[in-house]
Amino acid sequence: MARRVNARNNREPQMSAKVHIEEGSFAVVPTPPGHNVDQMKFVLDLRRRGIMDAAVLRAMEEVPRERFVMPAHAAAAYQDRAMPIACGQTISQPFVVAYMTEKLAPGPRHHVLEVGTGSGYQAAVLSRLAARVTSIERYRALADAARIRLKALRYDNVDIIHGDGIAGAPEQAPFDRIIVTAAAESVPQSLLDQLAVGGVMVLPLGSAEAPQTVVKIVRTEGGAERTNLITVRFVPLLPGQARDL
Ligand code: SAH
Repeated sequence: MARRVNARNNREPQMSAKVHIEEGSFAVVPTPPGHNVDQMKFVLDLRRRGIMDAAVLRAMEEVPRERFVMPAHAAAAYQDRAMPIACGQTISQPFVVAYMTEKLAPGPRHHVLEVGTGSGYQAAVLSRLAARVTSIERYRALADAARIRLKALRYDNVDIIHGDGIAGAPEQAPFDRIIVTAAAESVPQSLLDQLAVGGVMVLPLGSAEAPQTVVKIVRTEGGAERTNLITVRFVPLLPGQARDL
């Protein structure tokens, strides 16, 4: 028989009404669906490292990163590190995903363009925060796998395109937000042209061999304002579609 515990025993009585204790056993604390201890620690670590935005933290907590890494890495999916994916590419480090997402500040009415789908993880996080996400990947194999993965998770507001992200998606422009998750030497003019006035673009800039800088660009009526943020290391933004895969 289950017995209700009096709320008065709890230090925060207003939050304690639904605790049940099984006779002769430990208290059963219901775990919200899709959560585990690793995921909770993951979010606490992001907070400790300075991610403040509650919606971003919620999105990071909600998206199952183990579904985006290779099966051999699934057990380590909530560690704060980049990991290899197919086609010699990488899924970014969770802190960098959260950080760039926070600086991008996607809102519930925004259409976001991502260049560099990779595993689809960043696109999944964005899909929890924006109205619509368009993500472009130059490897067909990665684009197809990400599309299947996102569909299985019912992230239905993401559209994956196989193509050259440097060209953007002019037929869908302007975008409220643009995020590039591969490093370019300079801001691609075509992407800047597809950013709405008042819109924000976040991207790593620098050469492939050296550490790069995450840069935030706000498009204004007359041009653009640029802020340099943290140092990161991304795979390079390469021109054109990949030939074989
Ligand atoms: N955002 C990804 C990680 C990105 S890794 C994730 O969450 O998993 C960078 C990706 O950018 C790679 O998959 C690479 O193939 C892709 N890329 C590089 N240059 C590109 C281009 N010009 N157009 C589209 N994708 C590109």
